[in-house]
Amino acid sequence: MEAEVSYQRVRSQLETLDLTTALMELDNALERARVDELAPTQVLEQLLALEISARHDRRVSTHLRFAGLPFRKRLEDFDFSAQPSIDQGLIGRLSALTFIDEASNVLFLGPPGVGKTALAVGLGLCALEAGHRILFISCHDLVKRLRKATRLGREERFLDMLLRPRLLILDEIGYTSLERPEANFLFEVIAKRYDRERSMIVTSNKSWSAWGEILPDQVMTAAILDRLLHRSVTINIQGESYRLRDHRKAGLLTRAASNEKGGEKESTSVA
Ligand code: ADP
Ligand code: MG
Repeated sequence: MEAEVSYQRVRSQLETLDLTTALMELDNALERARVDELAPTQVLEQLLALEISARHDRRVSTHLRFAGLPFRKRLEDFDFSAQPSIDQGLIGRLSALTFIDEASNVLFLGPPGVGKTALAVGLGLCALEAGHRILFISCHDLVKRLRKATRLGREERFLDMLLRPRLLILDEIGYTSLERPEANFLFEVIAKRYDRERSMIVTSNKSWSAWGEILPDQVMTAAILDRLLHRSVTINIQGESYRLRDHRKAGLLTRAASNEKGGEKESTSVA
């Protein structure tokens, strides 16, 4: 009888503490303990491990919902043989995420279609799975959302949203040049994240020397690059677009045509 009372108390205690998985697994754990003659601490250990793991999974799926990733391709799905200019060992080391602990930035540079976004997303997923909050935003969306936020008087809130995640992925800097207010805002994001020692992954189709074409003046370009590059790893990807490569394989494109066009955006016109 006392055992039954104690069992009911444990159930209600687990419920009060919101240990939903432990509560759900309690009967199984007790049954295993009986069959395998486990010590009480072993039962507790198993039960708590299940709770911790379920909580981690819930946190990851919540973070995933707010991460804004354009797709969910993992690093394991990346075909490194198609892009020999990428040091696979380096990507492997980055996937261990010490760059996040060291507040370093990872910068992927290269022409369209070579896998910059795919690698940024792959690293982002690693960070998510390790329990970090991440946010992916393209430069185009950043500008669009900044304009809306400014109209609604919510610029501060938008800035805060970009500062809070442990890892911010800023995709495709360089396709559009920025007006001064947008560039000022970008500078604020980069400078504040730098001050708070929070990492970024940035992808761009422009080399550093060409960043002056995107930003309104040289002083701002230098100030942005200074912070981005201070602690950073730059990965220059050369080679042809993965999509164009598929087109060529399918016989829709000659190598000469793909070299001439050199961009996935044009791929429809040559296919
Ligand atoms: P970028 O950002 O450099 O323009 P993306 O990462 O968007 O290029 O790549 C274009 C498309 O091709 C994406 O769907 C991406 O997943 C895929 N892709 C690119 N490179 C590879 C690769 N080496 N292995 C597998 N898929 C790739
Ligand atoms: Mg891209």
